[in-house]
Amino acid sequence: MAPRIDFHTHYLSRAAEGFEAPSPAWPRLTVDDAGCGQLTRDGVAFRDVDARSWDAARRIADMDAAGIDLQVLSPLPATFAYEFDAAVTARFARLHNDAIAEVVRARPDRFAGLGAVPLQDVDAACAELERVTSELGLAGIEIGTHAAGRDLTDPAFDAFWARCDALGALVFVHPENAPGFERLRAARLAFAAGYPSESGLCAASLIMTGVVARFPRVRFVFAHGGGTLPWLLPRLDAVWSAYEDVRETTARRPSETARTLWYDTLTFDPENLRVLAERAGTDRLVVGSDYPFLMQEEPPGATVLACNAFDAAAREAMRSENAFALLCG
Ligand SMILES: [Zn+2]
Repeated sequence: MAPRIDFHTHYLSRAAEGFEAPSPAWPRLTVDDAGCGQLTRDGVAFRDVDARSWDAARRIADMDAAGIDLQVLSPLPATFAYEFDAAVTARFARLHNDAIAEVVRARPDRFAGLGAVPLQDVDAACAELERVTSELGLAGIEIGTHAAGRDLTDPAFDAFWARCDALGALVFVHPENAPGFERLRAARLAFAAGYPSESGLCAASLIMTGVVARFPRVRFVFAHGGGTLPWLLPRLDAVWSAYEDVRETTARRPSETARTLWYDTLTFDPENLRVLAERAGTDRLVVGSDYPFLMQEEPPGATVLACNAFDAAAREAMRSENAFALLCG
């Protein structure tokens, strides 16, 4: 039997604590004697973290309790740091990717890993992508939905997508702070509404502008079930049918292109998950929990089990086989 896999978890190395920050705005990690940590920007704490973020033994104990065989470790999106000098972001990415690779090397039976890249600089991002996948042997990379105000569909990223395409890279797209999020400061609205909206816009943009079609070997995986994308697809199809210029940009119907991407199952609702599965295909879904954060699904895959639209084979595919195949390349 393929291992039960949690594709969407985050890891933060304690090595981040000693990183020489280039400015007070850099996301700094501090950890107290009791092992409780915080990320701060400009001296203001914005994220509580604890040993689950960096302690592999603790993570394995939690996985055992939750029935998970293997976690895919990806960097905390709060540390993407695309708005800073690319050389500094690249240095942090190398330090952090090395730390993730070390955890994976020690327990390849329990962990796989994705690396970070300094996406604000295409050449530097390509260099780290190569290092992550070849030298470190990680399964792929995690990126945000935009970099320093530039969307992933910006022509400046063509060289990056070409490199990802040549490598057949697995690219986990995870939302973080985005333009317009200043409207969402109250009531945790960025997490609640900003993240799914941003993911939906990002996936829709990559589909409609033809990036997915032009770079078909990139294995995109979208966090949080692709956000609003499943609900946007009928309208994307309607626009594609109505406008010749859109059809000239991408020859395939958007809802068909959406079936060539992957998504995690982190939707918090069986009915939402059913719609996602109907539009993406159960062979395109992987269980992801957002461990170890407050918003995590417990246990991982609870919504897959709660959704009565799936038979046993589909559930197994989402909990094990789809992610296993993705990680094996
Ligand atoms: Zn996450």
